[in-house]
Amino acid sequence: MIKRVLTTCPYCGVGCGFYLDVRDGRVAGVIPSKSNTVSKGYLCVKGWHSHEIVQHPDRLKKPLIKNNGKFKEASWDTALDYVANRLKDIKAKHGSDSLAVCASARCTNEENFLMMKFARAALGTNNIDHCARTCHAATVSGLNQSFGSGAGTNSYDELPFMDCILIIGSNPTEAHPIVGWRVRTAVDNGAKTIVCDPRRILSAESADVHIQHYPGTDIALINAMINFIIRENLHDKEFIEKRTEGFNELEEAVKSYTPESVKDITGVKPELIKKAARIYAASKKSCIMYSLGMTEHTVGTDNVIAMANLAMVTGHVGREFSGVYPMRGQNNVQGACDMGALPNVYSGYQPVADKNARDKFEKAWGVELPARPGLTLTDMIDSAIKGDVKCFYIIGEDQVRTDPDTHMIERALKSLEFLVVQEIFLSETAKMADVVLPGASFAEKEGTFTCAERRIQRVRRAILPISGKTDGDIICEISGRLGYKMEFDSLKVCDEIASLTPLFKGVSFERLEENGLQWPVPEHGHPGTPVVHLGKFTRGLGRFIPLKHKPPAEVPDKEYPFILTTGRMLFHYNTGTMTRRVSNLSREYPHNFVQINPKDAETSGVKNKGRVKVKTRRGELTVAAEVTDKIKKGVLWMPFHFTDEPTNVLTNSAFDPVCKTGEYKACAAKIEKL
Ligand code: SF4
Repeated sequence: MIKRVLTTCPYCGVGCGFYLDVRDGRVAGVIPSKSNTVSKGYLCVKGWHSHEIVQHPDRLKKPLIKNNGKFKEASWDTALDYVANRLKDIKAKHGSDSLAVCASARCTNEENFLMMKFARAALGTNNIDHCARTCHAATVSGLNQSFGSGAGTNSYDELPFMDCILIIGSNPTEAHPIVGWRVRTAVDNGAKTIVCDPRRILSAESADVHIQHYPGTDIALINAMINFIIRENLHDKEFIEKRTEGFNELEEAVKSYTPESVKDITGVKPELIKKAARIYAASKKSCIMYSLGMTEHTVGTDNVIAMANLAMVTGHVGREFSGVYPMRGQNNVQGACDMGALPNVYSGYQPVADKNARDKFEKAWGVELPARPGLTLTDMIDSAIKGDVKCFYIIGEDQVRTDPDTHMIERALKSLEFLVVQEIFLSETAKMADVVLPGASFAEKEGTFTCAERRIQRVRRAILPISGKTDGDIICEISGRLGYKMEFDSLKVCDEIASLTPLFKGVSFERLEENGLQWPVPEHGHPGTPVVHLGKFTRGLGRFIPLKHKPPAEVPDKEYPFILTTGRMLFHYNTGTMTRRVSNLSREYPHNFVQINPKDAETSGVKNKGRVKVKTRRGELTVAAEVTDKIKKGVLWMPFHFTDEPTNVLTNSAFDPVCKTGEYKACAAKIEKL
């Protein structure tokens, strides 16, 4: 029997739609959906191969319980009883806040809502967070301060009609290819592009300006652009006057950041900064696209605020064909944030510390809820090492490979009394668990994902769960064993979310059938919101926040003379748990490598394809060198997709004090030829 099931891609935050081709109960292939508004019949290579992970032989099918260091298969009842009893014991002995939950940007909105309900109502703790902490937490905190809402402002479909796209710290053709395709269409339509990246990425090849600034110098660069824009009278005085506050303070703060004065900090010629500033400000329809190259810094929040300052000073936000596009990493990282899988907010960013919000959730859930915000993922690691947090329940997240400073993460997980990991493959984190619970892939569940343009889209079940249970089922069954009954019916959970969350009040499965809806959807029948902050920012007036350049936590010195930065490649995804199991993808790039500029290679004696050791203060890694003039002199670049050669043993866990995101994108390193 053949059936075609319309669903949403499980990889990146673009949110492409396709049909899963199901034959005799097996997912046999992928067929793009022409009517999907996000992907319009196109997919990138990862989407085309996404079916291959569903029935991969490595999929976990039975729960595993560790005994004397070895995993043994167990029945669901045995495993769930065991987990529930251990959670109960730890809670009784050490209190609710000794427990912590890591929710999953790979799971549906409905499952994430249940995870946060489970943490708060069943375990009694606000210690819930997820991988947004390691990617776009700075977007939430930064845009929230500037605009009053921490999500992207405009829609993908506006991109091809822009006059100017400023791409900074983002590699759309590789990391978000279907958005990269829209950028390319804009170029073909005559748009000018400005690419700010220490590497000559594909988008830079066709850019009008390519600014190769040093990693960690974004604020100096953007302040200099603002300085020049004001000096040249290119700022939008009417917009500033009517829609913003704090301009005088900003003007004062950027006075000392002339394009000339930041040359030594950024390594960029003043003429390039002026040209970029002029194009961005003078174009009628200008937007900014950014990603983790901006957020994964000790100044990630400030970087995001700097971009908001630039957008507001030119009036390029709060209307169609403008705005800021934070390109989200994982398929549902936007949704996991929206659902309140965060330590300080319920769904729709309603603060746990707000009594009215808490009262509403307490009444709906029939239980007293903790008022004090919980621990971020970064703080959970720290607390585990200190011995305050005794148990992690990690769902669909390979923290050992994704978080910075791998050795520190391993130390934290080893310090725990009990570690539960819910996963589809035996990841490096799962290997360290006391109990592994086999979760379900996107093809085995009903629900919704929310992509980077705030579009909530349907995910539909193509086959029954391979392990017999979805992630939502597992959470509910453990919750029931803890004495707090929850039911997993994604349609009903969607309705519960709508009833408790003003941003999603008008959302229902029925209304999402065609092409989803972009939140806010404040009423039944509301058409959704393609552009936010129209006429007025969510916070009222947009807020200019003056910023100063602060160097990264580690800067090059005599011993470690290079800046190491990291990024994604087209053929792989995050730590490669899924893509490296797809033969066609793995064949393209089977191993890790480091890019080095020819001049640096010459002085270091490094040959193209030669083996080298990359060292930082946290660890070392032996990989092949790629000698290329695509990378700026003084900078090394590595991808982070390789479990056996894990780049994150090198990266720095120093974090942004506001959003607690680690500084993956800049640390001091050295390279030795072998
Ligand atoms: Fe999937 Fe992203 Fe590729 Fe689209 S661009 S097919 S969402 S990985």
